[in-house]
Amino acid sequence: MFKKVLIANRGEIALRIHRACREMGIKTVAVHSTTDHDAMHVRLADESVCIGPAPAKDSYLNKAAIIAAATITNADAIHPGYGFLSENADFAQMVEEHGIAFIGPSPDHIRMMGDKITAKQAAISVGIPCVPGSKGGIDTEEQALEEAARIGYPVLIKATAGGGGKGMKHAGNPEELKEAFRLARSEAKAAFGNPDVYMEKYLQKPRHIEMQVLADSHGNVVHLGERDCSLQRRHQKVLEEAPSPVLSPEARARIGKITSDAIKKLGYRNAGTIEFLYENGEFYFIEMNTRLQVEHPVTEAITGIDIVREQIRIAAGEELGYGQEQVRFQGHAIECRINAEDPQTFAPSPGKIGNYHAPGGLGVRVDSGLYTGYKVPPNYDSMVAKLIVYGTDRDECLRRAHRALGEFVIEGIKTTIPLHQRLVLAEDFIKGDYDIHWLEGYVEKQS
Ligand code: ADP
Repeated sequence: MFKKVLIANRGEIALRIHRACREMGIKTVAVHSTTDHDAMHVRLADESVCIGPAPAKDSYLNKAAIIAAATITNADAIHPGYGFLSENADFAQMVEEHGIAFIGPSPDHIRMMGDKITAKQAAISVGIPCVPGSKGGIDTEEQALEEAARIGYPVLIKATAGGGGKGMKHAGNPEELKEAFRLARSEAKAAFGNPDVYMEKYLQKPRHIEMQVLADSHGNVVHLGERDCSLQRRHQKVLEEAPSPVLSPEARARIGKITSDAIKKLGYRNAGTIEFLYENGEFYFIEMNTRLQVEHPVTEAITGIDIVREQIRIAAGEELGYGQEQVRFQGHAIECRINAEDPQTFAPSPGKIGNYHAPGGLGVRVDSGLYTGYKVPPNYDSMVAKLIVYGTDRDECLRRAHRALGEFVIEGIKTTIPLHQRLVLAEDFIKGDYDIHWLEGYVEKQS
């Protein structure tokens, strides 16, 4: 097993990884930018190294600085968390070339899934059903019009290098398509430095359902069930739950088997998530995330499996040690992403935290780096806390979420706690009757 792990991330996820390491008797190295010198992940780690100034490109995305930090502290592995360099195949390769273990999949698998077109081709080749769409990339307006006529409107233009919902534009007719094609390309170029786009049929009322998998380097694969992440704003997840209120045990077993078999055929290693849209009883692959996900704790809550611990064990060459039959699903879990944002306008709200009090009690987990006096910097993602609640069933879980949100005190900045408080009381949500577009409509009605 590793003796020392460098955590190439910040915020709640750096803490989350640190906690798993501590419990496994592994020392941790935090890296941080100059603005993050008094962040909680730096305070808790055994050692810390400043890797550059505030802008992420100079610090958390600075590959050479991070590898140098691992080398001087003698770390034998690097955990990338999510975001930043977590899906950067070149980084994973550099880490390995320096004789350091990368806690994640092989660079080849990261590369394959990082390009949405090669990812879809790989998915099709191993029997995963996909959203109908263009065969490959779309390079010209004429080609876009031809493909859309073949697929049928409405269509969605998506960035090949996509992520975070950027470079994604919807079109209901040829006129809209011309504009969507132009906008998607320029947004993709600005966000990823790559203007390439492709096309998919735009599904009208799907749910976002994703399957968590774990695969070791000895060919063992298990799935840990699904997460329903349909509550989204601007294609970004806001609240997630497991299990999905609309999936039957049969549907779960069916998609679980398709996913596990595919992962095995791909020879994939470590934790991963296959994302699907689910409509009229059918699953359609949209992408695979080759990393730990923000919403992994809801799966941990219903399976009792520590996903970060499993990632570390797998990277160290250990066997999973259990099969699909041993994975048990129990109870219900919900995660509320709490952002430093105005709950009405969603404008960012960085600043200094005044009073801080995290909720507690049975079935309540808070993953956050906040504390009184901490300054939320304006430079990074606005998510400052995750509240994860567990209940023996969905009803208990919803009541507990309401109770815990009521206890949560974060003063000095605006947060999305009031949005979550309204959501857990919304009739459609309580009934489980929502799709990926529901939240946007709900937010509009409320403002
Ligand atoms: P990104 O990598 O940018 O997050 P994804 O492919 O994961 O992009 O899609 C993000 C979200 O966009 C999905 O969860 C869903 O809400 C919406 N979406 C993606 N593809 C489609 C589609 N074909 N039809 C309707 N909505 C879609």
